[in-house]
Amino acid sequence: MPLSRTILITAFALAVCIIRPSHGAILVAVDVGHTLEHPGATSARGETEFGFNRELAGKIQEALSAAGFATQLIGEHGMMNALKARTDAAAQAGFFLSVHHDSMQPHYLSEWKFEGKTLAYGDRFSGFSLFVSRKNAHLAASLKCASVLGNRLIQAGFKPSRHHAEPIPGENRPFADEANGVHYYDDLVVLKTARQPAVLMEAGIILNRDDELTLRKPATQEKIAKAVAGALAVCLGKPPHP
Ligand SMILES: [Zn+2]
Repeated sequence: MPLSRTILITAFALAVCIIRPSHGAILVAVDVGHTLEHPGATSARGETEFGFNRELAGKIQEALSAAGFATQLIGEHGMMNALKARTDAAAQAGFFLSVHHDSMQPHYLSEWKFEGKTLAYGDRFSGFSLFVSRKNAHLAASLKCASVLGNRLIQAGFKPSRHHAEPIPGENRPFADEANGVHYYDDLVVLKTARQPAVLMEAGIILNRDDELTLRKPATQEKIAKAVAGALAVCLGKPPHP
């Protein structure tokens, strides 16, 4: 097969992995942030953010399926370099959730040795952050879902980090819903190009040494996933059960 055709078919297969539990269920696109080539942040113990994102996105997909949503994982093989390709692949979805894990500005980071490697860490901030874009065509619905999600995460024992609101270069992300940890970040490509309501979730800070240990536990990932599924059932309307 010509290489270009192989690439096209492979890209399609990677982009579209849809589980439809029942006719008429709302389709939720779960976007695995970053790629193998550009894996995002490096955790305090040297793991990639992409790995954290992929694991959590898988748990979120399971929780959404159990709640009766149809789901579509995007970028789970780590090959989707173009951000717009992610929202193009999600064109049919009723909601777009981008899954990430957080870092912090370099001046908050220190160095330590872990298993013989010198690595960066920062324990000053801890917790989740949620983002919506005022350039998304469905801002009100995006914000509603983000607020309900933040609230569910707080009820589940997590707390929002405030570091993205700091008045310093690289941050300055105004609160859209301060109590529930939601910020505006208008130019995040996946949020502004999504054709449906969209939220980007930084599930926690993997540069924080305690957060990292908590976030890699399956029980924590399942708690976050359950909060996502519960929140979307509220803000999108309860899906029909399979
Ligand atoms: Zn990220």
